[in-house]
Amino acid sequence: MTESHAVTPTPLEKNLQLVGTSEDALVKILDMDPSIAETAEFVQFVAGDKILPSCTPLAHRYGGHQFGVWASQLGDGRAILLGEYINKRGERWELQLKGSGLTPYSRGADGRAVLRSSIREFLAAEAMYYLGVPTSRVAALITSDVDVIRDPLYDGRPIVEKASVVLRLAPSWFRIGSLELPTKLGEVSTLRTLLQFIIKTSFLDLWSSAEGNLAKASVSFGLKVAKLSYEMWVHWQRVGFVHGVMNSDNISLLGVTIDYGPFGFMSEFNRRYVPNTSDTEARYCYQQQISALDFDLASLIREMAEGFKILRRKAEVDLKLAFLKKLGLSNEVHYDVVEQLLLIMEESKADFTATFRDLSEVDIYKIEEAEDKFWALLETKRHKHFDAFLQKYKDALQAEEVDEARRQSMMQSVNPCYVLKNWMAQEAIAEAEKGNFEQVRLIERILQKPYERQVEAEKLQFGSKVPNWEKRLMVSCSS
Ligand code: AMP
Ligand code: MG
Ligand code: MG
Repeated sequence: MTESHAVTPTPLEKNLQLVGTSEDALVKILDMDPSIAETAEFVQFVAGDKILPSCTPLAHRYGGHQFGVWASQLGDGRAILLGEYINKRGERWELQLKGSGLTPYSRGADGRAVLRSSIREFLAAEAMYYLGVPTSRVAALITSDVDVIRDPLYDGRPIVEKASVVLRLAPSWFRIGSLELPTKLGEVSTLRTLLQFIIKTSFLDLWSSAEGNLAKASVSFGLKVAKLSYEMWVHWQRVGFVHGVMNSDNISLLGVTIDYGPFGFMSEFNRRYVPNTSDTEARYCYQQQISALDFDLASLIREMAEGFKILRRKAEVDLKLAFLKKLGLSNEVHYDVVEQLLLIMEESKADFTATFRDLSEVDIYKIEEAEDKFWALLETKRHKHFDAFLQKYKDALQAEEVDEARRQSMMQSVNPCYVLKNWMAQEAIAEAEKGNFEQVRLIERILQKPYERQVEAEKLQFGSKVPNWEKRLMVSCSS
């Protein structure tokens, strides 16, 4: 799958030190004994030095809009997902190591985090939790003597800092940018898989009420993301928290505060307050945080709408291919052959199932000698354009180099002999209402092999012309 990549954390071996832990997170989220923090093993675990056997470390691939501009593929460049943990309370949490080394998405950077920013993430995440703000958590923070070089801060000289790692937790680390990227790249099946995974793991109720219909579930999911995001925003505003980098890759799909970077809690009250010195236009200032969310959410919804269009277009192409296959063809340039046949069938009221099946069993080069059992085809053949169709069909087969034996076997694998016609069901129902369920069971058995001619089914004329009385059958919703 392209939305994530198996990776191994790069251990931080030099002089590991535990800076701090959240006892609450260790105990209540990870079901650990707080004394575990004193063990060397735990420190090695956070340092990426010790991978538990049940972990499959992954780096997630996402994109995002940065400062209003589509930035394409971004991360995770320095966060590695260790896996999920379902705790004693039945909650699902995802464990990440941030700063644990290079991933395929590090884009020339070092995959590390410095002590300064890790402490800020640790303290802020925990503080936000206790303020009652929806947030990711930091269970532990370690540092080391491994040097990393960072941008000049004050005097223009690069600064040497210490590589550190946080063990951070969230119900899910998926972000708006997680869905934006596959959509922008037109990766339809990845998008589907991802959407389905996110909705099923984090919003099972939405999945259930959509009865497993992905398009339906996605609409309610989009609304849910917006609702949760705006709820998070209310909390941010009430405590004076300014995130600093509300790019769509930093906005959670679960409405929790993630990716603490150049954030700030306002001191003097100032609606234009901006903690991030790189944000020279005050795009993400205190009073604009709601517009930033509007932008990111609108982008998500736009991408999803675009995604539906792609899905829809793909379904249409898939259907064309399916119909070509019903004729033993596979090249889209021959789709007019399909269209011509469908037109003839419609005008001659041909049986949909039987005509295709007959075509799959008859020798089209000896169609004049076709026996009576090919009744549906013979009816269709009376149409004035049938011969023209047949010639075109043969030409297409020749162009695709499909010989007669292969054509027949290909077509027989996709054109059923039997489908459940109303009259068949009706006869079985009538018997069943008299207490005889044999026919129901027999039909059920026959329909297990719809692509095979079966003696019993032929005896019951399941492949034959539909009896006239079927037209009088009424089926409605009121059952
Ligand atoms: P941020 O602005 O912190 O949200 O980061 C944007 C993207 O850059 C994310 O995908 C990060 O994973 C990545 N990134 C930031 N710093 C580093 C680093 N030191 N090494 C690798 N990737 C990084
Ligand atoms: Mg980020
Ligand atoms: Mg960051």
